[in-house]
Amino acid sequence: MEGLMMQQPLRVASLLTHAERHHGSQEIVSRRVEGDIHRYRFVELAQRARRMANALAGLGIKAGDRVGTLAWNGYRHMELYFAVSGSGAVLHTLNPRLHVDQLAYIIDHAEDQVVFFDLTFLPLIEAVAQRVQSPKVFVAMTDRAHMPATHTLPIMLLCYEDLIDSHTQVFDWPPLDENCASSLCYTSGTTGHPKGVLYSHRSTVLHTYAAALPDALNCSARDVILPVVPMFHVNAWGLPYIACMVGAKLVFPGPALDGKSLYELIEAEQVTLSAGVPTVWQGLLRHVGERGTTFTSMRRTVVGGAPCPTAMTAEFQERYRVDVLHAWGMTELSPVGTVCSFKAHQLSLSPQQRYSIQATQGRAVFGIDMKIVDADGSELPWNGISAGDLMVRGPWVTRGYFRSDDAQPLVDGWFPTGDVAKIDPDGFMQITDRSKDVIKSGGEWISSIDIENVACLHPDVATAVCIAAKHPKWDERPLLLIVKKPGRSLDSDELLAFFDGRVAKWWRPDAVVFIDEVPIGATGKVLKNRLRELYQDHYVSAR
Ligand code: AMP
Repeated sequence: MEGLMMQQPLRVASLLTHAERHHGSQEIVSRRVEGDIHRYRFVELAQRARRMANALAGLGIKAGDRVGTLAWNGYRHMELYFAVSGSGAVLHTLNPRLHVDQLAYIIDHAEDQVVFFDLTFLPLIEAVAQRVQSPKVFVAMTDRAHMPATHTLPIMLLCYEDLIDSHTQVFDWPPLDENCASSLCYTSGTTGHPKGVLYSHRSTVLHTYAAALPDALNCSARDVILPVVPMFHVNAWGLPYIACMVGAKLVFPGPALDGKSLYELIEAEQVTLSAGVPTVWQGLLRHVGERGTTFTSMRRTVVGGAPCPTAMTAEFQERYRVDVLHAWGMTELSPVGTVCSFKAHQLSLSPQQRYSIQATQGRAVFGIDMKIVDADGSELPWNGISAGDLMVRGPWVTRGYFRSDDAQPLVDGWFPTGDVAKIDPDGFMQITDRSKDVIKSGGEWISSIDIENVACLHPDVATAVCIAAKHPKWDERPLLLIVKKPGRSLDSDELLAFFDGRVAKWWRPDAVVFIDEVPIGATGKVLKNRLRELYQDHYVSAR
């Protein structure tokens, strides 16, 4: 119809063009794998991304081709985010914590034509290179002076800075259809082969708008953002794109993710907002606590990927005046789904009431529609009590996996998250379990997460994992697997007695098995499926 708005496609490159024009002098600071600190401005990011786009064309990369990256959070990785996607190719971020066979599998599954890698990953790339067919070229993300003197790579190895130097910065980002693919990330794959989630330009830009909102990650041009969450895991929760959209300063930690290194970087660069999984924050809090120091600039931290323990929220907020934003998402959701920020009427609640709200994963950001359903698929009420399978839909939710032979996942247009959740009348969603991991005893749900949280309160427990074990009468019963703190002599009866009064009687695990360590997957999560394989017959064989 005449007089309507312009048809302006949503493209990843437009984020960079915006940052260059409107925030060109804003800084990007990176701790490099070479050991030093690098700093430059958005304007240089944009120039170098265009040079790299020319270099990719020179390497024969065409629209739709996949380009792999095996890299930490840093400015060269950021350049590739825009050079690859902006020129119409697909950025495939590879997770270095995957097993070498899984890495080889996904590189060939995606048919990556070129793989860029940080120097620290040379041994890994050498091992992967023996097992893959697809890549024609490897590129070491460093300068000539740091290029490896020798290597065993069977195909051509190029130098990143040589590619940048030998190409001009004159490049016009092509007028791509907003629905074409921009990037690809495989899920952590706790079962079977990892599965690829393919993001589009449109989904990425829409996700960026939503995730930057005040009640989501709350980012602005006044922020200094430190994404600890890796750029190889769901695009660092979208923060590199968000920083371009809002003009925030970016600080990249490179490979140094220990508490001391992070703290020094946070203070030196006056970081205001950081984001990461709870395990990373444990190391940071330990370091700051031991030194008896504090954060002079950090005001907010986004905690997600796993439940944020209330003790962590309390420590950040009470001791350091750093607000915790508990967020939930998935690779399949680009990843932001919900973020826990208060509504006005909750501000006057008691601290304890507010902590119980912050233990929830929060409210859906606009664009994400969610519901909880029972086993028959019927929708359950938002009463804060009924728990069911969490289903989502929205413009940045996957509709199926990349090149997958498996049945496509959607159910009546909704994506089943595999999480079990309840939602309160204010729309705050709380994950109570995972459906692949849930304990159903006599037809009723038991939350393994709650059981683990109680066990972790015991002073002798280092790690607690609760799994569903087969039971002849109840179908399943909870079984507790415990790693003790070194030198402690905890026994089963003492630990089980600890549950009295803390959970419903029928929730109390029937037995405890003490183990030396828990298996950890590529994204740092406990591989519960492996533990279930090992211990699921515990109650059956014990008879
Ligand atoms: P991934 O795709 O590897 O990021 O994993 C997504 C899954 O991690 C979700 O389906 C949840 O099971 C879990 N997860 C993510 N964020 C949270 C959170 N804040 N609390 C509990 N579980 C979470």
